Amino acid sequence: MEIIDVHCHCFAGLGQAERVSHGLARLRDAGVSHLAVMGLVNTSLNAQDVWKLIPEGFDNLGDPLFNEADDLLKFTQQTGDMLFPMLDTRMLNSDVQSFIQDHLQRGFRGIKGLYLADDANDLRVTSVPDTFGISLEQYHKREWEIFAFAEAHDLPVLYHMDANRYGDTMRAILDDFPHLRINFPHFGIGRKAFRKILDTYPNVYTDIAYMFPHIQGNPDSYSDFISHYPDRVCFGSDALIYQPEIVLDYIELVKSLNLSNELENKVLSGNPRSFLGLDSVC
Ligand SMILES: [Zn+2]
Repeated sequence: MEIIDVHCHCFAGLGQAERVSHGLARLRDAGVSHLAVMGLVNTSLNAQDVWKLIPEGFDNLGDPLFNEADDLLKFTQQTGDMLFPMLDTRMLNSDVQSFIQDHLQRGFRGIKGLYLADDANDLRVTSVPDTFGISLEQYHKREWEIFAFAEAHDLPVLYHMDANRYGDTMRAILDDFPHLRINFPHFGIGRKAFRKILDTYPNVYTDIAYMFPHIQGNPDSYSDFISHYPDRVCFGSDALIYQPEIVLDYIELVKSLNLSNELENKVLSGNPRSFLGLDSVC
């Protein structure tokens, strides 16, 4: 069976090339054909400020300023088409569209974002307006430019956003970009609020990344949810590119849910393919 992880992060550089390639080989042996890996770029933040936009608990072995794009593209070239690099836009501050265009030409195939409008975000990181000294309006303009670009270029977007706290803004995005393929990961943070979004917008996906303890603690409730939305839930792990064991744990987690073969296949492979657009790419 084919397995595609739609949600990994880089946090490594060429200094870890051997470790990364051993890890990817283990995953390939386990049936993993593709990993979507988010690659950060930082055009203006200094060593202190850059950490304001990084949640705790992720160990960065790569560039201390989080300019990961070059090394991620090298890893991508070295692994055939196993890696699917997605540009993490959280630290972009100006010329968003030309910056993304540039990185697409270099090999990026999707977009990653985080909705960080204020200090009440679930990741407990500093907001983007505070980090860059811009208004909420300017921040929204930046995010809307990113969505417009992604929709126009048929790029998948992985966008961390809390449906409970920011439901109105989430709906505004989806109303403005009805053709965007977008994954609000971690079940939109809260399944109750997120259900309404899934019920209304057919172009919305989600993933199980970072949900291990919740799913393990309440497997029936999560398998019910997945069965109710069979075409929406994608396999994802939030693993860093050098942490194959986390991806393997998530594969076991999905198998432990005893979904039907058809549904398990959709979660591990069919839905990730649709979200990433792998079937439409020759
Ligand atoms: Zn993540």
